[in-house]
Amino acid sequence: MIESPHPSQPRPVDAAVEAILDELRADGGRITSGRRAIVRSLLSADDHHVTADELASRVQVDHPDVNRSTVYRTLDALEAMGVLSRISLGTGGAVYHLADHAHHHLVCTRCRSVVEVQPGLLGPVMDQLEAQTGFSLDRPHVVISGLCASCRPGKPS
Ligand SMILES: [Zn+2]
Ligand SMILES: [Zn+2]
Repeated sequence: MIESPHPSQPRPVDAAVEAILDELRADGGRITSGRRAIVRSLLSADDHHVTADELASRVQVDHPDVNRSTVYRTLDALEAMGVLSRISLGTGGAVYHLADHAHHHLVCTRCRSVVEVQPGLLGPVMDQLEAQTGFSLDRPHVVISGLCASCRPGKPS
């Protein structure tokens, strides 16, 4: 019989949810079932780029009692604590994801899909831009718009 080395260890999403709720609690925030559902839904999102409205709709499937203003207030609190980053992708509403998940974004202006780019890829370019212009760039979350591989005209079919 093979035993798990950490039988009592929670699943990664559960641990991450509890870590964030602990921060909320330490910050003086109340932990309600609604807030727990919001954080869980945020961490479970496959695309990691949800708008506040999308998140509210997802939470309300299982928790119809959680209203939109609760979702917005919770997102604001998490953003103020530095847990979440709010990023404007230039199309529609701003999206949220975890602040420690650093990456850049390629955003398709036609289908609005988002492709994540490793932060290191743009590092040398950003160094040069800052040296040449004195501009301080928003390093973790650069957004570049264009047409994705599916939307590009003339793509081979
Ligand atoms: Zn992102
Ligand atoms: Zn596209």
